[in-house]
Amino acid sequence: IKVDVKQVGCVGVCNQVPMMEIHKNGEEAAYYTKINANEVGEIIEKHFRSENWMSRFKNRFYNYAENLTFSDIPKSTNRYNVNEEHTPIAEFLKGQVNIATEYRGEIMPSDFDEYKAKEGFTALEKCLNELSADEIISQIEQSGLKGRGGAGFPSAIKWKMVQNAKSDLKYIICNGDEGDPGAFMDRMLLESYPFRIIEGILIGAYAVGATEGRLYIRAEYPLAVKRIKEGLEICKSKGLLGKNILGSDFSFELKVFEGAGAFVCGEETALIASIEGKRGIPQLRPPYPAEKGLWDQPTLINNTETFSLIPYIIRNGAEAFSKIGTEKSKGTKVFALAGKINRGGLIEVPMGITIKQIVEEIGGGIANGKQFKAVQIGGPSGGCIPVSMSDTAIDFDSLKEVGAMMGSGGLIVLDESDCMVDIAHYFLSFTQEESCGRCTFCRIGTQRMLEILQKIKTGKGKLSDLDLLEQLAINTQKGSICGLGRTAPNPVLSTLKYFRHEYEAHINGKC
Ligand code: SF4
Repeated sequence: IKVDVKQVGCVGVCNQVPMMEIHKNGEEAAYYTKINANEVGEIIEKHFRSENWMSRFKNRFYNYAENLTFSDIPKSTNRYNVNEEHTPIAEFLKGQVNIATEYRGEIMPSDFDEYKAKEGFTALEKCLNELSADEIISQIEQSGLKGRGGAGFPSAIKWKMVQNAKSDLKYIICNGDEGDPGAFMDRMLLESYPFRIIEGILIGAYAVGATEGRLYIRAEYPLAVKRIKEGLEICKSKGLLGKNILGSDFSFELKVFEGAGAFVCGEETALIASIEGKRGIPQLRPPYPAEKGLWDQPTLINNTETFSLIPYIIRNGAEAFSKIGTEKSKGTKVFALAGKINRGGLIEVPMGITIKQIVEEIGGGIANGKQFKAVQIGGPSGGCIPVSMSDTAIDFDSLKEVGAMMGSGGLIVLDESDCMVDIAHYFLSFTQEESCGRCTFCRIGTQRMLEILQKIKTGKGKLSDLDLLEQLAINTQKGSICGLGRTAPNPVLSTLKYFRHEYEAHINGKC
């Protein structure tokens, strides 16, 4: 049997992997899911051979052929037709909008020709040949794009600041230092769409006048580093990096910098210090990196997902992007859907979708027949939103209003068996350990909060501890200079707000 085998980027359907999609000329494609490596040859053989037999011997050996087709695949494997409705894959993918993950599951990540065939680098060509820097930034502004790294700052404002900064040397940095527990959005984008991210960075560099760039990727993502490095080499050989890109007067160099594993280096000033070879400690702002960043030069820093959205906006126009989402939060957001959910994975959804829709429609509800209790959204610095508020829309403002945040896109689903005091303790332990130690409240305040939580967890707490915990949390928010410390108390404050009875139950010896 002559079969081409191709590896594609992440499809996001983590709940069904390892997965294989088989296309046979003239027939509807099929997915085989939860396969084992040693079954692949057998599945391919049976898929192709048995269906030939089906058509040839349908009348004479119908039962035999039918058995071969449908029953003879390995027991652990499921088969679904690609266009079939109501399969776990169809339900999971329905309702998603793929922009950062455009052509998901269709492109071999390091295949330049495949990326080109799917409109790859046409946005860059459009920028170099048809648009001025002002027009590019105006497109970004009209699209309403806000940074996807967590803070949700309007991208065009940052781009304009760097564009207007007076310097002969400007830098651009792609922040791929993803460190939230349970989050793997950047990893998936870097591994699956290296050329799209490089194209987004090239467009940003051209618009703001940067001539050098760094892709800051955490070293714990070796495949992401490998794919990006391969992508950069290929781009160099195709005239997309270096001097006079595609014959224009735009010259640009881009390198990978591997992060050494500190969560705080995801904060942009700490990230810059780390590239400069210093200890990754956040700095007070202003000056902002847009004015004085890498080696004191104006620097544009955007997150990986932000850059991966740029080619789509330029290719399709600002309106194509801005018509998706809500009034103040445009476009889509990629989330890592994890926790006690039937169908976990990587999803890209339009802004404005509700938590309930994500959990029930995309995620297929809570696993093992348990009750939906809450979601922890926004990573370790995010908040816990109870099921009673699961109609909350996913957009920057609505999440802030309920004491959570978009963060970079971690979404962990909790069920009735999860103890919210444990959850708050777990996330606070993470941020406490990752505090760089510069600010007193972030360094010591979080430590004292952890001690109180530990006392409560072990039944040694008092009711007055809750007020102390709350006060410390508020002071830590106010007395920390960077986002890590300012948001570290969120899991404690949100659980105190919505699940105070669980804290009290621990204190009163009822659990
Ligand atoms: Fe360091 Fe925490 Fe202060 Fe940020 S808030 S600078 S992580 S001590």
